Amino acid sequence: MRIFDPHIHMTSRTTDDYERMAAAGVRALVEPAFWLGQPRTNAGSFTDYFDALIGWEPFRAAQFGIRHHCAIGLNPKEANDPRCREVLGLLPRYLARDGVVAVGELGYDSMTPDEDEVFAAQLALAVAHELPALVHTPHRDKQRGTLRTLDVVKESGIDPAYVVVDHLNEVTVGSVAGSGCWMGFSIYPGTKMSPDRMVALLREYGPERMLVNSAADWGRSDPLLTLATGHAMLAAGFTEDDVDRVLWRNPVDFYGQSGRLDLSGTHEQAADFAGNTLARGGS
Ligand SMILES: [Zn+2]
Repeated sequence: MRIFDPHIHMTSRTTDDYERMAAAGVRALVEPAFWLGQPRTNAGSFTDYFDALIGWEPFRAAQFGIRHHCAIGLNPKEANDPRCREVLGLLPRYLARDGVVAVGELGYDSMTPDEDEVFAAQLALAVAHELPALVHTPHRDKQRGTLRTLDVVKESGIDPAYVVVDHLNEVTVGSVAGSGCWMGFSIYPGTKMSPDRMVALLREYGPERMLVNSAADWGRSDPLLTLATGHAMLAAGFTEDDVDRVLWRNPVDFYGQSGRLDLSGTHEQAADFAGNTLARGGS
């Protein structure tokens, strides 16, 4: 099984995670910019972080044979902090960089007027830079947040094929399915979405425009839940080709729209790995 995790925060993970991910078949990933666990106090704090996302973290991932790309943006939480606002002016120079394959993560946290403004401004940047946008949906009041997100996406004029609306669940997926946007799911232990619930949604909605991620971060999370979802799909009767589509080809198609995905070296290794997996009986 070859896996592309389309949303994972490696900055908050250890080398043990990289090692386990590589052994599980994770060959590529996208790390969206987010918060540090505590509030940043100035824009310089973002520039060091963004530099790490395009420099240090890809270097760390490469030691485990994993291709690291990132999404750059001002996250919804910190969109509310006036000390962070000048980051918007710094984004264009990062959005021009090679390893940057999307603007993100954007969207709503508490659905404030500040978040409205920052969200719309960054969708405009995505359009200007011809980049996909990774849009987070709020944990509270999720359905209203998702509908408002779709309205803002529509108003921005961005091609919905360039947008993934993430952290969806059974309640919110329906409205996104008809929008033309991609549907993102974060498989989390205990909350958000489980492998079995994900399989049920894949049965209902099919594999098209579906992205499955671990969203592993500072909280209790597991970078191998993408693999667990692949196994759950096989156990439920999906084919290896279906799994490959959801866990590899879909994220490649979505982020490939940036024209900047570098997957050199991953295909051969992934093919070997698939062979080994089959030889071991799909374990
Ligand atoms: Zn995230």
